[in-house]
Amino acid sequence: MSENHYDVIIIGSGAGGGTLALKLAPSGKKILILERGGFLPREKQNWDTTEVFVKNRYVSKDTWYDNNQKPFQPGSHYFVGGATKMYGAALFRLRKEDFSAHRTADGLTPDWPVGYDEFEPYYTQAEKLYHVHGQRGDDPTDPPASAPYPFPPVSHEPRIQELTDNLKRAGYHPSFAPTGILLNEADAPHSQCIRCDTCDGFPCLVHAKSDAEVIAVRPALQYPNVTLLTNAHVQKLETSASGQAVTKVIVERDGQREEFSGDLVVVACGAANSARLLLMSANDKHPRGLANGSDMVGRNYMFHNSIALVALSRRANETVFQKTLTVNDFYLRAPDYEFPLGNIQMIGKSQGPMFREDSHGFAPGWTLDQMAKHAVDFWLMGEDLGLPQNRVTLNAKNEIQLHYEFTNQEPINRLRQKLQSMLEHLDLHPHLIPNNLYLGKHIPVAGVGHQSGTCRFGADPKSSVLDVNCRAHELDNLYVVDTSFFPSIGAVNPSLTAIANALRVGDHLLQRLK
Ligand SMILES: Cc1cc2nc3c(=O)[nH]c(=O)nc-3n(C[C@H](O)[C@H](O)[C@H](O)COP(=O)(O)OP(=O)(O)OC[C@H]3O[C@@H](n4cnc5c(N)ncnc54)[C@H](O)[C@@H]3O)c2cc1C
Ligand code: SF4
Repeated sequence: MSENHYDVIIIGSGAGGGTLALKLAPSGKKILILERGGFLPREKQNWDTTEVFVKNRYVSKDTWYDNNQKPFQPGSHYFVGGATKMYGAALFRLRKEDFSAHRTADGLTPDWPVGYDEFEPYYTQAEKLYHVHGQRGDDPTDPPASAPYPFPPVSHEPRIQELTDNLKRAGYHPSFAPTGILLNEADAPHSQCIRCDTCDGFPCLVHAKSDAEVIAVRPALQYPNVTLLTNAHVQKLETSASGQAVTKVIVERDGQREEFSGDLVVVACGAANSARLLLMSANDKHPRGLANGSDMVGRNYMFHNSIALVALSRRANETVFQKTLTVNDFYLRAPDYEFPLGNIQMIGKSQGPMFREDSHGFAPGWTLDQMAKHAVDFWLMGEDLGLPQNRVTLNAKNEIQLHYEFTNQEPINRLRQKLQSMLEHLDLHPHLIPNNLYLGKHIPVAGVGHQSGTCRFGADPKSSVLDVNCRAHELDNLYVVDTSFFPSIGAVNPSLTAIANALRVGDHLLQRLK
């Protein structure tokens, strides 16, 4: 067998691919990780708000095209560890109800082919692996869990504790946001995490965030049988003459073409890029793209209905690490509305430069720094629906064209009103200010952080791309293991589900590799 042949090739090293590599590493099988990016440089700019949020230092140079073929720069991050290098590490389980078809304002969500109970043990493993801090029981929508969180919740700082107390007094059920950071509050001098204010949306300079590089890829590379090639951009997957197996992985690395082969090939490029790679790999046997007999590759793109909002506190908000509180009282419904509204959580404490673009007119008399000092930052997240026309396709240059029509707008707007009505209980000024920079500027579709759903899994090859084990229905050795597999997205952050699924598929692959 050639030296370029591996038992498993994993393309992409983020939440899905990185986690899978670690899961498979102890098997001793020869594993190759191909990652288009390099290691994210560790430099002082990691924690510089202007560099990260205004100058987009770590955002890819990609150009994508919107519904009107207008170019935009997506908030994509191509590094070892993928988008988790920049993520806020809010590691929620989907709610049990998310796995079954449910009615939303704009229609029915699909059933998942496997239920919450099958995911539960993998969520527990994922929480352990990614050092999730949390507390079960306070959140009325918490799904059943077979173990407590492996680490105690990240404590609220005084202003957030006050919000929590006030919310409880007003009859809500605030709870600790589950968070993946390497923080040891009981032994601060030895804690890897220093609990700083540049976490959500920033890379962690001291490698104390539970991102896929720190938690999965670096540990996987401790195994002699695991190889990582960086700056290895996969261009195409070639198949056998019958079209039933991937036989070659074509890579461009440092300007050179290279070829690899693997008994198993796992695509984990993130939802949009996984679809792109399958579409780019069209051949005689798969004229519409690999695994695309159903014409479903690229369709059902979802990314959440999200609003980042700033409320101004009457007193300065001295909080450093703010992302400790979440409210799910309206996740499934509201007293005055029968459909799900979504999740409320905090985001990282905003800083002056983030407001520069949005500063006109909404808080007269406030300077940007004053605003940042008094800001209490919320993030609202509602479910969007996977529509067949919400879709990744490619242009002649193989660039991504993202067609996206918004769904379920009423619930997210109602959620905003709910938050608005809470403000009076919270000693906050009565206006909410949008923080567009957090979400990827003023072009909503550019905020691709929660992209998912382009290769949904399902039992029926006519309506899905992957089977229940995330294997392509049409190719025996091809898997997709990232957020592409989601049939629906729920209204909590997607990473823990992508991680749990990688562990789940990992078990299946280990059986296959025996
Ligand atoms: C600012 C920000 C904040 C976020 N906060 C949260 C949060 O708090 N909680 C949460 O759950 N989620 C959060 N997310 C979302 C989370 O990061 C993603 O859901 C998760 O990383 C998706 O995992 P993935 O494996 O699908 O893709 P990724 O993690 O993006 O990994 C895909 C990898 O594939 C590589 N790749 C792409 N194409 C190719 C190719 N052709 N060849 C080789 N390699 C390729 C990419 O470089 C990348 O490394 C956030 C995202 C962002 C951007
Ligand atoms: S809060 Fe902790 S994990 Fe987050 S960036 Fe700061 S040191 Fe890193």
